[in-house]
Formats: sequence, structure tokens, C-alpha cells
Amino acid sequence: MRVLICGGGVAGLTLAYWLRRRGIEPVVVERAPHGRLGGYGIDFFGTGYDIAARMGIIDRLTPYQLPVDSVDFVDASGSAGARLTAALLDKIIQGPHLALMHTTLEGALLDAVQDDVEVRFGETITAVRDTGQAVEIDFAGGGTERFDLLVGADGIHSRTRELGFGPEPRFARHLGCRLASYPVPDRYGWGRVRAHYTEPGRQAVLYPTGRPGELIALFLFRSPDAAAVPRAERLDLLRSVLRGMGWITPSLLADAPASESVFMDTMTQIVMPAWHRGRIALVGDACGGMTMVSAQGVSMAMAGAYLLAESLSDSRADLRADSLSSSRADPRADSLSSSRADSLAAESSGHERAFIRYQTLMRGEVRRRQRNALVFARSLVPRTRAGLLAQSLANRLIMREAFAPVLRRQFGAASILPPQTADLGKD
Ligand SMILES: Cc1cc2nc3c(=O)[nH]c(=O)nc-3n(C[C@H](O)[C@H](O)[C@H](O)COP(=O)(O)OP(=O)(O)OC[C@H]3O[C@@H](n4cnc5c(N)ncnc54)[C@H](O)[C@@H]3O)c2cc1C
Repeated sequence: MRVLICGGGVAGLTLAYWLRRRGIEPVVVERAPHGRLGGYGIDFFGTGYDIAARMGIIDRLTPYQLPVDSVDFVDASGSAGARLTAALLDKIIQGPHLALMHTTLEGALLDAVQDDVEVRFGETITAVRDTGQAVEIDFAGGGTERFDLLVGADGIHSRTRELGFGPEPRFARHLGCRLASYPVPDRYGWGRVRAHYTEPGRQAVLYPTGRPGELIALFLFRSPDAAAVPRAERLDLLRSVLRGMGWITPSLLADAPASESVFMDTMTQIVMPAWHRGRIALVGDACGGMTMVSAQGVSMAMAGAYLLAESLSDSRADLRADSLSSSRADPRADSLSSSRADSLAAESSGHERAFIRYQTLMRGEVRRRQRNALVFARSLVPRTRAGLLAQSLANRLIMREAFAPVLRRQFGAASILPPQTADLGKD
């Protein structure tokens, strides 16, 4: 079985790894050029960490942990009102946890597949035709190829989703916020802290990347408008939204790179009635984007990829069982078992079963996290001074050991891998 994976991010590379382990041939097309740098920091724990451990890549990640010992909610003078300490985080997560740059994880996943998976960088798909027996795919770089299945792992603004399921607005739930981030030089002698400074309608966040002298500035701001902002206009928008903001925001803005290099996106969830159609399926943010607020996007992307690979692998056993039972039941056994048409029909039911099983295992977990993120996002950047005061009081109250179980439920820190899949990585 040959599977084209569109998108070589966390979900796409994890899927490629586990398909390969199960004897299924993946080919990955990734729009970006090889060796992406920069990006943003992620908290990595629970299910995602479990899967990374099964892939044997934890040792590749730990040297690149972000040097952050606490998350401080600061006032305009930089003093911390509430603090999420490493000790409290341990109580919430109750298991291993890494703060990493997103690109560090992607790099480790790429290392894990690069010897035995074809990854085509700087490539994407332009058209998809599901013939019922295969998917024919046109590539931007030219040429058409046939694959047994296509999996879209191309993130929130998935092209695969658009080609196979419909336009983005049909599935997008805008949470009323935009985010922007970029690296800045450390002019502050910054410590091992991630600091959040909030004013009504806007928030600035600053943390170290671990690369000497480099920090990441992240901004969240309310925006009812969900239209994409052209790269050339991003910095102007940011300057206008953050005008007059306190703390060290003016200095962070002054250090912004060229507008084209600013990462900016809406805070959007993707909610779809079905994650698969015919021979096409979606995984990760493409079908279940939750937003950064959940701190679970990476985990759910990896879990979806892992369970999709497992389901497809099981479906090949189903396929063999289907062929066997039909050959036993039918007097034309030899001709049936060797018939291409019958084998394709059986294979088709096999991949559909796999897609259904994968969706059944994953979608409820994703929906639950989406609902949590939706609630949390409403209070993330309060609109008013009163809302800000309430948030500040709530942060002081909740950043205590007694509330660790509540926070654990909110952030879904427990691994969701079903026990029966525990041996998947052992062969
Ligand atoms: C600022 C920020 C902070 C976050 N913090 C956290 C956190 O703390 N914890 C957490 O778990 N999650 C966090 N997330 C969410 C997390 O990053 C995503 O949920 C996760 O990366 C989803 O993985 P994915 O592989 O589905 O999509 P992506 O990581 O978006 O990967 C998609 C890949 O597809 C490629 N691609 C896109 N379009 C095409 C195309 N047309 N053709 C070919 N390739 C294409 C992209 O270049 C990319 O490599 C954060 C997100 C942001 C923006």
C-alpha cells in the first residue's frame, strides 16, 4: 500500500514513521524548504511525549529544552503577580514534560524517518481525483502520480481539506483572537522565565529559545476579523494594535524583523463532521485544530497519526481475513482470490474501516479539548480592566497545588493511548 502524506509537520512525519514501521510505504510532500528554523515554543507532555518515547527520540529532544523554570504573569513594571512554577507544573502534568521549540520536535521526527521515507521538500499538491480504486494526484512541481490513499497533514489551512472536503470557512471556528510571533535579541539579560503581560484586548509574551541571546516575542490580540493578513502588512497591523502598550512592548516592537518574517495567524479551530472521504483522510490540525490555548495540538496530532497508522495496519489484516473468508465461501475460490477487482473491493472496505476506527478513537478526545480551549480562550485576553482584574485574581488563586487536578483536567495531561496499542512500537 502506498500512501501520500501532504504536510511534513508533526502529524505528517509521525504518520510516515509508524506507517513505515508497519510495512506501508509513505511518501511525504512538504511545502516548506528543508531545514526550517525559528518558529515558536511548545509544551510537550502526555500522549505526544508517550509516542515520542515509543519512537526513541526523547534523547534527541532533551538537550534542546527551553530554559524556562516558571511562567510569570507580570505587571507593567515586570513584577510577577501570579507564577506557575516548575514544581506546580509537575503536579499538574504528573509525568515527563518538555518545553521545546516546535522546530526541534519536527527536526527529531525528520531524523527518525529520513533514512527510509521519501520526503519531497518544496512540493505540494494541486489537484486530487479519487477514482474509487486509487487517488490520482497532480503536483505543483509537475507530474501526476497514483497512490492508494492520501492523508492531509497540512495543518490548519489544509490544502488537502480544501481539495477533498470543501473550503476552509465551512469548517473554521474563529476564536476572536490573532497571534503573532518573532525572535528578538535579548537586550534584557533575560532569565529562565516565560513572562505574560496583559492589557485589555492584548497580551505580550516573552521567553528564551535556548539559543544564546535569542528570545521569542509572542503577541495575542482580540480581532473579530478572521481574514488572512498579507505578510507585507503584518508589522503595520501589529504596531497599530500594540500602540501605547506598556511593559517592554515598545522595545519588542522596535526589534521586530521584516514584516515578511513575522508569523501571524488567527486563533482558529477546525470542526468537521467527518475526517475522511473515500480514499482521503485528514490528521492533526487539518481536521481537529484546537489552537495553542489547549497546549495539546502536538499531542493530538501525534496521537491521530499513530492511531491512523495502527488502524491502517490492522485493516490490512482485515483485508487478508476478508479475502480468506470470501475464498472459502465461494466455489470459484482461486479466481476470486486472484481477481484484482475483488481484491480492490476488499481493500477499499479495509481502508474505510481503518478511517472509521481512527476517527472513532480520536474525534471525541479532540472535541473535548476544543471545548476546553474555547472556554479558556474567552478569558485569555480580557476585553476590559474589570476582566483583567478578575483574571489576575483568578491566576493568583489557581496557581496553587490544591488546583492542580482542575488544571490537569483543563489541559488533558493524561496520555490517551489505548493499552492495546502499547506494543505497536515493539516490532
Ligand atoms: C504560537 C503557537 C503555540 C503553540 N503551542 C502549543 C503547545 O504548547 N503545545 C501543543 O501541543 N501545541 C501547541 N500549538 C499547536 C501545535 O503547534 C499544532 O497543533 C501542531 O503543530 C499541529 O501539527 P500538524 O502537523 O497537524 O500541523 P502543522 O504543525 O501546522 O504542520 C503542517 C505542515 O504541513 C505543511 N504544509 C502546509 N500546507 C501545505 C501544502 N499545501 N502542501 C504541503 N505541505 C503543506 C506545513 O509547512 C507544515 O510543515 C501551538 C501553536 C502555535 C501557533
